[in-house]
Amino acid sequence: MRLRENISLRAYHTFGTEAKARYFLEFTDSAELADLLRENPRLFDPVLVLGSGSNLLFTRDFPGMVIRPAVTGITVEKEDDHHVWLRAGAGVVWDDFVRYAVEAGWGGVENLSLIPGRVGAVPVQNIGAYGREAASVISSVTGVAVPSGEVREYGAAECRFGYRTSIFKEELRERFIITSVVFRLDRVPELVLEYGDLRNEVEIKDEAGNENENEVKTGDEERDKVKVKIKAEVEIKKEIGDEGQNDVEAKISSTNRFDHQVAGPGPVGGHNIDITVTDVREAVIRIRRRKLPDPSMLGNAGSFFKNPVVGASTAARLRAAYPAIPVYPSGEGLVKLSAGWLIDQCGWKGFRKGDAGVHRDHALVLINYGSATGKEIFKLSEEICRSVQERFGVDLEREVIVV
Ligand SMILES: Cc1cc2nc3c(=O)[nH]c(=O)nc-3n(C[C@H](O)[C@H](O)[C@H](O)COP(=O)(O)OP(=O)(O)OC[C@H]3O[C@@H](n4cnc5c(N)ncnc54)[C@H](O)[C@@H]3O)c2cc1C
Repeated sequence: MRLRENISLRAYHTFGTEAKARYFLEFTDSAELADLLRENPRLFDPVLVLGSGSNLLFTRDFPGMVIRPAVTGITVEKEDDHHVWLRAGAGVVWDDFVRYAVEAGWGGVENLSLIPGRVGAVPVQNIGAYGREAASVISSVTGVAVPSGEVREYGAAECRFGYRTSIFKEELRERFIITSVVFRLDRVPELVLEYGDLRNEVEIKDEAGNENENEVKTGDEERDKVKVKIKAEVEIKKEIGDEGQNDVEAKISSTNRFDHQVAGPGPVGGHNIDITVTDVREAVIRIRRRKLPDPSMLGNAGSFFKNPVVGASTAARLRAAYPAIPVYPSGEGLVKLSAGWLIDQCGWKGFRKGDAGVHRDHALVLINYGSATGKEIFKLSEEICRSVQERFGVDLEREVIVV
């Protein structure tokens, strides 16, 4: 454990704006961290936990402790005939964990391939993409409470997961340092392919030489021959906010095409193919590489805003005024709108002022073209919120954590 002072955070977050931390601590041993907290709680006032910084915007220097869990390791916690419980350290790169699970043939996280960040942040905003949310596989979350230093475990039900949120993003924000997460994975994967782009990508692969058919993948033979179980409960998209789903038009068509779909082993788009978790992971990676800006080339934090959820009467008003507006049922009496569509309609796509801008293909993605400050990006986000409010009467909420 090494405590450093006045550290530049520029290299520690994907927007790449300048900001400094008064104190900076990386730890590998949770017990040592708990001891330090108990001995010197004032060092941690205030505290900010940092993973890869792919969902953060710094608008100022941080006056307290920036703490970076470097707890690594993936271990099998327990297993039965149907499931495997894996504990992963908060410092494990999320996509390394996904690759590990997929290579073992275990299902549940393949759709979440290539999402930037570390395991410790996964429960915080209940990451999601292509029809899957982390909440569906998280069994428990362990960490150290601030300032007491008490080690605590939260069961899945206590995490209060919601759309891009959890207790760790709300009540426990800056009050709980996650050190490890237990994920419950399926021995017999239940693939979720209802998101149109993903299904199309798998189909394209099948058409291009049927590479999937009866192919024996790495690992246990029985597992690899398991036919796909496409999830039956194909409700209209629950989580259209995923960065992989910024393309609203594709989303609408996918929703229309697949909302009465298949259950059990069988056809995907008319083909009888065997699909493994590896196929799904590879398809997701191909789509994401094609669609999303790489933060190492262009500073960004993925989707900057959440998709707003409004009441049915607001949705009806908007539909009357804007017949093309995409709307998605989102629980009783609630409707989810596409933040990307709303922002695009206000003419922001491709906007640039200085080095702060909006991605030319993704209205939800704000960009640092090089030397933008966090304040400039934040100001741009405020202007976007204002214009969406003025035109549609809808409030946008930021998905990115603003510091
Ligand atoms: C190109 C791109 C694509 C993306 N695509 C998606 C997507 O498809 N779906 C999606 O959901 N997100 C997506 N994101 C957002 C982001 O990758 C995720 O939110 C990710 O989980 C953040 O991980 P991180 O380690 O970078 O967390 P950070 O950005 O470092 O932190 C995010 C929040 O979590 C808190 N936190 C981090 N670690 C801990 C910990 N150990 N204990 C307590 N609190 C902690 C931080 O304090 C902060 O509040 C994308 C981002 C980018 C740049």
